Amino acid sequence: MSKLRYESPAIRKLNAGGMNKFGTRTEYEPVYPKVQFAWSYKTNYLDAVCRIFHQEGSWAEVVSGFEYEKALGNGVPGHRILFNGPEKTEAELRRAVELDSLIHIDHFDELYQLTDIAAGMGRKPRVAIRVNMDTGTYPLWDRFGFNYENGQAMEALTRIVSSGRLELIGLHCHIGTYMMSVEAYRKAIQKLGSLAVHSRDAWGIDIRYIDIGGGFPSGNQLRGAHATPTDALPSIDEYAEAITDELQRTGFAPDALPLLMLETGRALIDEAGYLLGSVLATKRLSDGRRANIMDFGVNILFTSFWYEHRISPAQPFSHHTEDVTIYGPLCMNIDMVRQHASLPLLNKGDRVVVHNVGAYNMTQWMQFIQMRPRVVLIDEQGAVHLIREAEDLAFIKLQERIPPHLADA
Ligand SMILES: *Cc1c(COP(=O)(O)O)cnc(C)c1O
Repeated sequence: MSKLRYESPAIRKLNAGGMNKFGTRTEYEPVYPKVQFAWSYKTNYLDAVCRIFHQEGSWAEVVSGFEYEKALGNGVPGHRILFNGPEKTEAELRRAVELDSLIHIDHFDELYQLTDIAAGMGRKPRVAIRVNMDTGTYPLWDRFGFNYENGQAMEALTRIVSSGRLELIGLHCHIGTYMMSVEAYRKAIQKLGSLAVHSRDAWGIDIRYIDIGGGFPSGNQLRGAHATPTDALPSIDEYAEAITDELQRTGFAPDALPLLMLETGRALIDEAGYLLGSVLATKRLSDGRRANIMDFGVNILFTSFWYEHRISPAQPFSHHTEDVTIYGPLCMNIDMVRQHASLPLLNKGDRVVVHNVGAYNMTQWMQFIQMRPRVVLIDEQGAVHLIREAEDLAFIKLQERIPPHLADA
């Protein structure tokens, strides 16, 4: 008889499958009629990955000019690109206006700049404002967008409307990342909802979409002793229920319900990514504890600063486990992937798999000491496709220039 696979225990909310207040079982019905995803480019902007999301119907959500160009290159038309972030240059704003993108204004300086650009171009750009607010989770992310509580968000809307040069069509927020509270999303919807109701009642403007951003947690365990185990996190259904329930309560007429926009990043891609590595060496530390040195470190696994990434051996292993520290290959003390991992004894050359590395690693990785490895995509038929070449010396040197007085080495 083959060995049974170990599956970690999980706690799930029991769903009795009864009727909810819309008269149907939410589990099998869309809970809100108008939903649109926009792929968060910075979470993973390998073109092959982005194209999968676009193929599934996602628009693009970008936070820089270069991400904007990548989205266009992936075939996303300008009018399906949401342009977020605190830095949008004059040229990038002009291009976004030209191509009719949805510009999410981050601060007053941008609002004035965009108003001037619009006047100069004789166009009326479609805009939203990013709103930050107290949702009961701290620290507050109040550095992006206009604050709700101090009235800046309302002031920004008033200026947009009174300028007559921008077409206000949306409201945006992104309240944090790895948000463990469903309640926070309810509060965010309430506050954006009240701005939308005000826009309708005071100016006769129907807000066409409410963009709740991203922030849903992935299946990774946060670092630190008191981190919540992933099994205790709310399910995606619970977030969906809270967001859509709150939207339905906001007081929109049934035929004027705004589109719900989502910019989900990590929750959609983290679990699709694996890192394959091997053991370079094993050693005993001064206190007798065991350490494994791997051929991957924080240079390509940036998220190990936040997560206890699960690591599993990729060959038969003994049942004896030991508490080990996992180091990367860099000649730098910061290069530690796991301080405490309970792993079977590994030897030089053994292979391991690191789980849940799909979000933020292939964008935040750094070319430091070592070069970055190749990335492959495994398709639904199991075929393997190379989607990013391993780096080489020529790649590293591509952008370097030697001044004439240093030409003769
Ligand atoms: C990073 C980011 C996202 C994606 O966030 P996740 O936490 O990965 O879901 C969405 N919207 C904006 C504006 C972002 O900056």
